[in-house]
Amino acid sequence: MAEATDIKKLSDFDVLTILQSRECFVCGSRKIAMRSHCSRCYYKLAPESRNALYQRFGAGYAEGYVASLNELGVEAAYVEQ
Ligand SMILES: [Zn+2]
Repeated sequence: MAEATDIKKLSDFDVLTILQSRECFVCGSRKIAMRSHCSRCYYKLAPESRNALYQRFGAGYAEGYVASLNELGVEAAYVEQ
């Protein structure tokens, strides 16, 4: 069972690393580098949540990304570092 302590705390660095990777953080499928999610996870998101992923890094992207993780069932929180 997931407990509060299992919430993944993601910094800008973590979010950038995930963005650059070719593995979907949510489901582990292959994704295109510099895309937030694999296409399957991406299309599960509400349109406004997808739009939040087009913000610039440092101007809301990381927060929008973490919110999209929560929407996809991954408990994560954005932490500033
Ligand atoms: Zn995925």
